Amino acid sequence: RPTNAEGVIDLINRHGVQIVDLKFTDLPGLWQHFSITLPEVSESLFQNGIGFDGSSIRGFQEIHESDMLLVPDATTAFVDPVCATPTVAIICDVVDPVTHEPYSRDPRYIAKKAERYLRETGLATTCYFGPEVEFFIFDSIRFGQDAHSGYYFVDSSEGEWNTGSDEGAYGGGNLGYQMRYKEGYFPVPPHDTLQDIRSEIVLMLQSIGVQVEVHHHEVATGGQNEIDMRFSTLTRMADNVMLYKYICKNVARKHGKVATFMPKPLFADNASGMHCHQSLWQEERNLFYDASGWALTSDVCRWYIGGLLHHAGALMAFCAPSTNSYKRLVPGYEAPVNLAMSQRNRSAAARIPMYSDSPSARRVEFRCPDPSANAYLAFAAMLMAGLDGIEQKLDPGEPLDRNIYDLPPEEAAAVRQVPASLDAALAALESDHAFLCKGGVFTDDVITTWLEYKRKREIDAVKLRPHPWEFHLYFDV
Ligand code: GLU
Ligand code: MG
Ligand code: MG
Repeated sequence: RPTNAEGVIDLINRHGVQIVDLKFTDLPGLWQHFSITLPEVSESLFQNGIGFDGSSIRGFQEIHESDMLLVPDATTAFVDPVCATPTVAIICDVVDPVTHEPYSRDPRYIAKKAERYLRETGLATTCYFGPEVEFFIFDSIRFGQDAHSGYYFVDSSEGEWNTGSDEGAYGGGNLGYQMRYKEGYFPVPPHDTLQDIRSEIVLMLQSIGVQVEVHHHEVATGGQNEIDMRFSTLTRMADNVMLYKYICKNVARKHGKVATFMPKPLFADNASGMHCHQSLWQEERNLFYDASGWALTSDVCRWYIGGLLHHAGALMAFCAPSTNSYKRLVPGYEAPVNLAMSQRNRSAAARIPMYSDSPSARRVEFRCPDPSANAYLAFAAMLMAGLDGIEQKLDPGEPLDRNIYDLPPEEAAAVRQVPASLDAALAALESDHAFLCKGGVFTDDVITTWLEYKRKREIDAVKLRPHPWEFHLYFDV
C-alpha cells in the first residue's frame, strides 16, 4: 500500500490505471462509491478532496445542506481486484465543505476520534482489534415484497433455502453429503463445498494487503464460513472489515452464489457472529497481561471487561444493530446471552481465550457483536466502554466458568442477560451514552440520528409487516 499521494500516483502509473474509485461508509455501514478519471487525480485531491451530493446517503445530511467533500486516504489505496477495468480504489474521509472540518456522522471519523481519545487519556497508546467475521454463502436467494399486503417472502430457485452444500466445486447436484444442522464445523469436502471459494477470497484479500490467518467452514449447515484476518489498530481494522465484506460478496457473486452478513438467516441453526478480540498496549507492552491475575489478565483488562459488560445494553445498539441480531442472541447456538466473563464458556459475553500463555496473546474476546454492525462504530463504541470501565474501575463480577444451567437458580437469575431486542438495545443507548460522547467521539447528533434511523427504518418497518410465519399460524383461524 502507498504511504502518500505520490505513492498512489505511482501505483496508478505502474498498473496503467485510468479509473480511480472513491469509497466511503454510510452510517448503517455499507460501502458507497463513485469513480473519477485520471485528470481529476492530483496531489490536491488528497488535500482538498472532491465534492459529492451527500443528501441521498443513508444517515447523512438533509437535502438543504447536502454538499460534501470526499478526501481520499492515500494509505488505503489498492488495485481493486473486483474491477475488470484496471482501477485503483481509495477509502475516503468525509469533510464538510464549509467548515473544512471532518464530518461528524462519518463513521471513519468516529473511529479515528476514538483512537485519538485513547491517546489523550494516557491509558494506552494503541488498541488492537481482531474480529472473527462469519457469513453465509447461499447458492441463490430471492426475496421481494407483495405490493398489496406488504408481505415479504423469501424464496430460491428450488422453493427452499438452497445452501452452499447443494452444488458447487464437486460437479453440481446434491451428492448426498449435505451437512446436518449445527454440524458444519468442520468436515472435509465433499461436505464442505466452499473450500476453494474461501481460498480465493483469502488470496484476493492478501493481494490487497489484508493479512489472513485461517479460513474454515463454520458450525451451521452448508454455507457458513469464517475467515480470520490478522488483528490491527482500530480504524485500520474497520477498513479491513469493509474490504473483507466487499471481497466475500464479490467472489461469491462471481461463482453465481451470494454471500450474506445478515446474522441469522436460518431458523434453528447457528448464526453469524463477529466476536471481537481486543487489547490495549503501551507501546510494545500488552496492558492486558498479568502473570498473577485470573486467566493471566491484569486489573486493567478486567476493568475494561467491566466497562463492556456494564454498558453492554447500549453497546448492542452499535454491535448488534439489526432486528435480526436478536434472533442470534438466544441460548443454544454458541452465541452469548450472559453478561459475564469466562475463560471457556461460549455463552458468556466476554471470554479470555486460553490458547496461549504468552503476554502478547492476552486479550478479551467480546462475543456479542455480529457482522450487521458498522465496524467503525462498533469498534469505537467498545473501546469507549472499555476505557470508561478502566476510568471507573468497573468490576466485571465473578467469572462464569460453569455452565449457567448447572448454577443454583438464584445464582443463575443474578446473571444479567443481553438485551432481548433491538428496541431494548436502543432504549439502553438512549439512557446510557455519556461514555460514548466523551472527548466528542460520538456526538449527540450521531446518537439521535442512529436512534431515529433504527426505530423508523428498521424496527417499525419490521414490526408493521405481517410476518411469513403469521400466515402459517393464523391464516386458517
Ligand atoms: N457463530 C457463533 C456466534 O453466533 C459462534 C460459534 C463460534 O464460537 O465461532 O457467535
Ligand atoms: Mg466462529
Ligand atoms: Mg470466537
